[in-house]
Amino acid sequence: MKSAVGLIGLGLMGQPMAANLIKAGFRITVWNRTRAKTEDLAQRGALVATSPREAAAASDVLITMVSDPPALEEVLWGPSGALEGLRRSSVLIDSSTVAPALARRIAAACAERGAEFLDAPVTGGTWGAEKGELVFMVGGHGETLARVEPVLGAMGKRWFHLGPHGSGQTVKLAMNMILALQVDALAEALALVTRAGVAGERLVEVMQSSMARSPLLDIKAPMILQADYAPSFPLRLMHKDLGLALDLANQLGVALPATAAAREIYNAVKGAAKEDLDYAAVARFWQDRA
Ligand code: NAP
Repeated sequence: MKSAVGLIGLGLMGQPMAANLIKAGFRITVWNRTRAKTEDLAQRGALVATSPREAAAASDVLITMVSDPPALEEVLWGPSGALEGLRRSSVLIDSSTVAPALARRIAAACAERGAEFLDAPVTGGTWGAEKGELVFMVGGHGETLARVEPVLGAMGKRWFHLGPHGSGQTVKLAMNMILALQVDALAEALALVTRAGVAGERLVEVMQSSMARSPLLDIKAPMILQADYAPSFPLRLMHKDLGLALDLANQLGVALPATAAAREIYNAVKGAAKEDLDYAAVARFWQDRA
């Protein structure tokens, strides 16, 4: 019989992840702070818990997919938090992007309750979540990972076991640093060529015919060129991830000067924005000055 799976956090990512678990035949129990977001899944057969604790108590495998470290602390340790309900021998998988140190703290709290933990943040975005093609970056014990592979396989196409607890989050933060800097560099280069009188499309065309070709630019360049920033990966989350990467660097004594500079730019755009924007909107830093 398939495991009972719980999913806490039904945002842009959690919704399609839950839908794919249902499609794969798992019995699922969901919880979301804003209850309205559970309605569609309930119609497809998901049970709706009244608290994170209740979702945990109903699950062999519990997944958390919330925005940031404070949200995760709230759903785990807050009133009627998931840790209170966690079953012995169950597995908690956190797929939110948070600090590696928080992942290790959760692993210890799970161990105290006889449960297992994996940090398993994802890449692939909302598109990957909808298609069931996420890639998981996993920290924790290999035997725990082996137990939950069928669950990961319902939501994703690959997973990498990267080392002990926290390793998944470390690699995820490093990866997002690269994405954030790449999109920031594109925005900066587009500002330069357009000011010099060359159409931005030409730069992208040449770039995508070169060794520096990037699928990321296929998605982000049109957004920048059309100044259309409907959120796919929200700027507020990328801003959070750059902060987490800089905190980790600080703890480890590693200098990240380019990341620190990029975060200032993301910070300025986030501060000026009135609506939720994709992180490609970092280009507004230059567009607003044009
Ligand atoms: P999102 O759409 O903003 O959803 C955030 C979720 O967290 C919602 O369910 C929200 O509940 C919940 N939440 C926030 N604060 C909470 C609190 N204090 N207590 C309880 N629940 C709280 O974010 P997302 O795009 O799904 O991203 C989720 C995680 O995946 C983030 O860590 C993000 O960095 C990571 N990620 C996202 C993408 C992407 O493309 N979007 C890609 C890879 C990784 P409400 O509905 O009540 O607001």
